[in-house]
Order: sequence, then C-alpha cells, then structure tokens
Amino acid sequence: MVLGKTKISEDTYLIGIGVSPGIAIGAVSLVDQRPLVDQSLIEATEVEAELFRFQQSVDRAREQLEKIKQAVSKQPHLREHLYILDTHLLILDDEMLVEGTKKEIRALVNAEGALTRVLGQLRALFDNIDDEYLRERRSDVDAVGDRLLRILTGVSERAIGKIGSKSLVVAHDLSPAETMQMDRSCVLGFITDKGGRTSHTAILARSLDIPAVVGLESVTSMVSNRMSVIIDGTSGVVILNPSEETFKEYLERKQAYDYFEQDLEKYRDLPSITTDQIHIPLRGNLEIASDVVHAKKHAAEGIGLYRTEFLYLGRSQPPDEEEQYQAYCEILKQAEGESVTIRTLDIGGDKFVPDLNLEDEANPAMGLRAIRFSLHEERLFKIQLRAILRASSCGRVRILFPMISGVAEIRACKKILYDIQTQLDHEGIRYDSDLAIGIMIETPSAVMIASLLATEVDFFSVGTNDLIQYFLAVDRGNEHVAYLYDPLHPAILRALKMTCDAANEAGIGVCICGEMAGESLYALVLVGLGFHELSMNPACVPRVKRVLRQVSKQDGEALVNQLLLLSTSKEVSTIIEKEMRNRLPAIFAQPPI
Ligand code: PEP
Ligand code: MG
Repeated sequence: MVLGKTKISEDTYLIGIGVSPGIAIGAVSLVDQRPLVDQSLIEATEVEAELFRFQQSVDRAREQLEKIKQAVSKQPHLREHLYILDTHLLILDDEMLVEGTKKEIRALVNAEGALTRVLGQLRALFDNIDDEYLRERRSDVDAVGDRLLRILTGVSERAIGKIGSKSLVVAHDLSPAETMQMDRSCVLGFITDKGGRTSHTAILARSLDIPAVVGLESVTSMVSNRMSVIIDGTSGVVILNPSEETFKEYLERKQAYDYFEQDLEKYRDLPSITTDQIHIPLRGNLEIASDVVHAKKHAAEGIGLYRTEFLYLGRSQPPDEEEQYQAYCEILKQAEGESVTIRTLDIGGDKFVPDLNLEDEANPAMGLRAIRFSLHEERLFKIQLRAILRASSCGRVRILFPMISGVAEIRACKKILYDIQTQLDHEGIRYDSDLAIGIMIETPSAVMIASLLATEVDFFSVGTNDLIQYFLAVDRGNEHVAYLYDPLHPAILRALKMTCDAANEAGIGVCICGEMAGESLYALVLVGLGFHELSMNPACVPRVKRVLRQVSKQDGEALVNQLLLLSTSKEVSTIIEKEMRNRLPAIFAQPPI
C-alpha cells in the first residue's frame, strides 16, 4: 500500500485515449518518480556556478541520448525511429530553451527553477497551437526538460528497460526514448497520465505493438505496484482492480481480439473489391516517412494522403527544395510503384517556420491556414512545388491542395504549378507532365461549388475531419463541444453525397481521407455514396477490407437512399448499425473489440 493513495474500489473504470490497440491484463509496475524541483533565488555571486551546472546538465543529457541512440540503432525494428532521438538532441540546442534558461539564471533564479520557468513558457506557446499534431510536439520538449531536471536534481533515469517480469507500465508520462527501451516480452502494455494520439510515444507504441492508453490525467495517483489492471488500447478503457467477472470478460475479449487480428491476416493479400466487383483501393495516411512501413505491413495500396507539414516541424528553418525532394523520393521508393498523394503544406500561422514573421491570429482555424498560407508565402510554396514536381519523376505522384474554398484559389495554385513546370522545362529537369492534381474538400463552400471545382481538377479528396468542423461549426479539438462533432449528421451525409455526385458527373476521382474512412462500420455507406477510394490510418485497412469484400456497391446505394430520408444522426446511426449487424453478424453483432 502506497501512502497517500485512497483505496481503489473493484472495477474502477477510467477512460483515456486509446493510442495503440489491443487488450493487456496484468499487474502494475509504477515507474513514476518525478524530480521535485526546488525553485529558489540565488545571489549574484552564485550565477556563474549555476550557469556551469546547467551547461553540465545539457552536456550530460546529450551523452545519455547519444548512448540510447547507439543501443537503439542495433535494433532493426526501432531504427526507423532514430529521428526522434535526433529531435531531442536538436531541442538541447534550442536557443529558447538554453539561452532562455541562462537568461533566467542571470536574473538570479537557480538552474532548475530557471529551466522550469522556461519550460512553462514553451508549454504555453504549444498550448496555443490549433493543430493537434503540432501541439503534441510539446511532449518532446517535456521529455527533454524532464531529462535535464532529473540530472539537475540528481533523480536517476527511470529503468524502463530493466523491468524484469511481465507487467503493465504506469507512468505520469513516458518519453519516446523510454518507450524505445521497453522490452516487449516484459511490458504487456502501458498507461500514462499525459499524452495524446499523435505524440511520438503513441506512434512508437503502435510500432512496437504494445497496447497503450494515454491522457488518463491522474492514474499514477490511483494505482500502486502489483495492482491488477486491464487496459483496452482500442477503446481507451482502463479498469483498475477488476472483479473476477470483469477479468473473465476481458480475458475472453482479449482472446477474441487476438483471434480477430490473426484472422485479418487472411485478408492481407486479397484485393479490396466489393461483391459486385468494384475495386475500392484502400490507401494509407502518412505523417512521417517511417510510417510507410506500417502502410505496407497492412497492405495499403499506396499513400492516399501524405501530410507534408510534418517535414517542417520542430526546426528553425523550413526544409529546402533538395531536402524535400529527397524526402519525397524516399517515400516513393518505399511505396514501390504504388501512388503517393502528396498534400502541400497544411499549417496555420508561422509558429514552426520562424523565419517568417506572421502575426498571431484570433481565429486560426479560419485564418491564414493551409493553401491560404502557401499562396501568401509564395516563395515557400514554389520551393515545395518544385520539390514535388521533381519527385514525380521518381514514382507515381498525385498532388493535393488543402482547404480550397473557391475556384480562384485552385486556379491560382495551378498557375503557379504550370509556371514551375515551364521553368523546369527550361532547365531540362524531368517531371511527370501528367501528374494528377487534386483538392481537399473540407470547407462548406467547396461542397456547395463542387461541380465548378470538379471541372478544374483530376480528383477530390474529402477531409471529413475539417469538413465536419466547418460544416457543423464545431471545433474539432474542443472537448466541450465534442458531443456535437458528428460524422453522421444529416448535413454531413448530404455534403458527402453532393461532393461524390459532382465528382462522378464530371468523371473525376473522389477519395475520402478523414478519420471517417477508417471506420469499418461506415464502409458500405461510403461506397454507396460513390467514393472511389478510401485513405486511412494503415492499421484500419484490414478491417475495412474485410467488410468491403462482403458488401456490394448496389446495396450501399440503397442504404444511402434510405439514410438521406432521415432527420437525425441518431436515426442514421441506428439504421447503419442494424444494417451492418444483419449483413455481417460475425463482425458487428459483438460489442466492438
Ligand atoms: C481532414 O481534415 O479530414 C484531413 C484529412 O486533414 P487534416 O486532418 O490533416 O486536417
Ligand atoms: Mg484537414
């Protein structure tokens, strides 16, 4: 019994963010031991010594990270993630962090106090970022800050790699470096107070196939060593002190899950065709180049959305043309002849491109975001377009412009693209002159004029994550209005139908690449609406394929006609669930696993 912890009753349910699927059942290994920071003022005569102590901690942190890098580079399944450690090494050079802390020390604060203040300021900067992925890069700064504070306060590194017996790791937070050091044969799963879906730790957990739930806020204060815990990395449910009944139920679910996953393997190499022989390519969404490995593991047919903003993150200068060209070519090489849809920069404001001096915005989701930013920063845009065009000679590239809201905008993009093509012709540089041009459909105006936009481009890709936010006026990242964020709202179904109809009438391609595409329950509806291809988190591909192979487009159309007559999303979801349960009881009759 740990002092200060109240007794936890049987079957205490917590809900966090499930970031790596699978069920794990076991005893807790609590690895949390956070450095206690003593913030105090110092005398002017102590400044030099504190500056020295801080610099020593930076040097020591660098040594530690280099050592981990060496160890990790010997493990083939982790080698692709070495860049995370490089990011942490870069953070150790960050001027705001290092010079900022030294400035605080000179203002007569002790080293750990100074560092804590600067980390607080950096956190506040990250918290104001609209984009979820960018916001979560905060966790990398936190991980580096935590490492420095441990060194300064003399708290030793947590020995995650040395957990000897099979257990569930519980921690306030886990840095990517710690996650990399986990021994998969001992760590059954992990749960943390902090973290989000796109943190590096979450990405790594998926790579390592370790079930994980993050963002539980205060689980470390509730559990004690050896307490029994169940975690469900798919739904985000965590159960402390499970009763015998719950234990049995989850053991069965775990067996069903493991069996289901194995069973899905059967579909891996089968084509994704409906029973009326319509081929619906299932493609992968890509955030970082190393995720191509996942897309291939799950047999995704190429990349339907490569979010290039990830190349621009956490650095003081944007990547130049050559670096982008190399990065795109590397992905194309790994895609082995499958098409790769490269989306141009979808970033808001200048936060991660500091050499540009743009103002903060009161309403960034509706501000200088995505294509608006690119058209405003034409120099940057041209560099990216040149890199994409050049890369198109290395493989099958499609180019995608984000957040288009009117015809003039796409015409402006095409004009710049054609100008660059002419330039490349003059320079004798090769590119694919038939490169397909597409736009994201994610604003209400784009839906309303879809038939006009369809005459301008080769394909549409519907971004439901934003489309729902803008159509329903619901901030996609605001938990207070999350209950209104509803993919099955009749307005959304109509919007999707209008978009597909416009594309099909014009004879252009139409894909969906928002999260909705990866939801197997919606697969029949999406095919019935008229989508030609679906692009999703690669891990969702096998499940969606399993459903698609057992339904027909014709049945999908009949279902959509029925749904379009309904008035509420509740009615819509009831009909979809009933229909899918009747058609595919083996998949949908059970509670979701
Ligand atoms: C979308 O909005 O659905 C989408 C795929 O783009 P992102 O999530 O990157 O905004
Ligand atoms: Mg979007």
